[in-house]
Amino acid sequence: MPLVGNLIGEDHVNYVLMYNMLTGIRIGVSRCQAKIKRPLTIEDFTARHKFSFDIVGNELTPSAKYDFKFKDYAPWVFRTLREDIFHLDPADYLLSLTAKYILSELGSPGKSGSFFYFSRDYRFIIKTIRHSEHKFLLSILPQYFDHVKENPHTLLSRFYGLHRVKLPRGRKIHFVIMNNLFPPHKDIHETYDLKGSTVGREYPEDKAARNPRAVLKDLNWIKRGKALDLGPEKRALLTEQLRRDAEFLRGVNVMDYSLLVGIHNMQRGNRDNVRRNTLKVFSPDLPNSLGRSKTTSGGHKSPEAIAMRRAMRSSDPKRLGKHTIRLPEEDIGDRLQLIFYQDEAGLRATDEGNEGLDVIYYLGVIDILTPYSLVKRAEHLWKGLKADRTCVGFTSCAAVFLPPPRSPARLPRPFVHTASSHPSATAV
Ligand code: ATP
Ligand code: CA
Ligand code: CA
Repeated sequence: MPLVGNLIGEDHVNYVLMYNMLTGIRIGVSRCQAKIKRPLTIEDFTARHKFSFDIVGNELTPSAKYDFKFKDYAPWVFRTLREDIFHLDPADYLLSLTAKYILSELGSPGKSGSFFYFSRDYRFIIKTIRHSEHKFLLSILPQYFDHVKENPHTLLSRFYGLHRVKLPRGRKIHFVIMNNLFPPHKDIHETYDLKGSTVGREYPEDKAARNPRAVLKDLNWIKRGKALDLGPEKRALLTEQLRRDAEFLRGVNVMDYSLLVGIHNMQRGNRDNVRRNTLKVFSPDLPNSLGRSKTTSGGHKSPEAIAMRRAMRSSDPKRLGKHTIRLPEEDIGDRLQLIFYQDEAGLRATDEGNEGLDVIYYLGVIDILTPYSLVKRAEHLWKGLKADRTCVGFTSCAAVFLPPPRSPARLPRPFVHTASSHPSATAV
């Protein structure tokens, strides 16, 4: 899937859908936002607000260009997630998405048939999801909420909203809004979607050579001898967070998720201008969003970044064993410093002495809304019979991130260098 989308103009087949999605968000989300903040209740997790738009308009909903219905699911929960857990500026969020109706659509959708749209400043992704994924997200929302609250450094997709647009002829389109892991201001030179399975997990290398935006897979990673270059501290923190996130996913029976890895080579910089066209489209007249996104996710020189770097440096690597790893939890000011997104909105590679290398990783666990259903089970069994059975399905996926239970602890392979002789390399 390319990283650059096609702008959706009025003549685009999905223009009406985009218009309706953005209008619904603009009106629905700001409606909830305008109310006085209150603590969440259990009912908030099942609440839904409905809006009916038409060309005439009424007291509640202004007139719109088209007739459609909009549903905002668990609006108070998502508001709390956005504001209190993910520390988004509410005005920024709405402005990025809806100040101007500009979205770009990512090329051809994947196997799942989902469509992806970028907000015009590239910070947010709208992903259309299946009805089953929508139902699943609602069903795990309380657990998801608790997990991300307890794990401010989670690598899981950050969901900012769950909505539905219903078109006049009854077509219902569910979608989520989530964080874009890749920053607008850095070229991503290589992208990997890693599942911890090797079956069918290869992007043809000859095609990859011609397409710098190809999303490569597990076998490309292995054959190219890739590993995340991280010094003992970052490695231990990342492994610990991935372990917790994978444990959560296992707990809610999710499979088929991926670790998405974008690699920015600082020596190459942005000279290839992989996203030049997108930036041309997205950079003008953005008073807040780009600047803010840098500070929110940890601009190089922000006081938060400096404080966190100090905190990371001061942790004694020898103490990063199984029981002593602490993911920093302090909240600095109103914004949390996110350790895995602190270096130019990513995680800078480091050597064994924790010195920075010329690579920045952009990492996250994506596509987390597919539960291990009977259908999938059958599919995987069949796949497994055809090929190496141990390499298919959830368990192997988890094995990528998690050391097997009660065996000597080790770092997940092949994603993290294990060449180190440092004691913490085997401590997690
Ligand atoms: P399938 O179910 O066939 O795997 P899908 O339609 O559910 O596909 P995803 O796996 O969620 O799609 O994402 C497909 C690709 O889109 C990813 O490999 C990645 O390149 C890009 N992508 C998805 N989510 C994000 C994100 N949060 N940030 C950046 N890129 C993303
Ligand atoms: Ca996927
Ligand atoms: Ca999927």
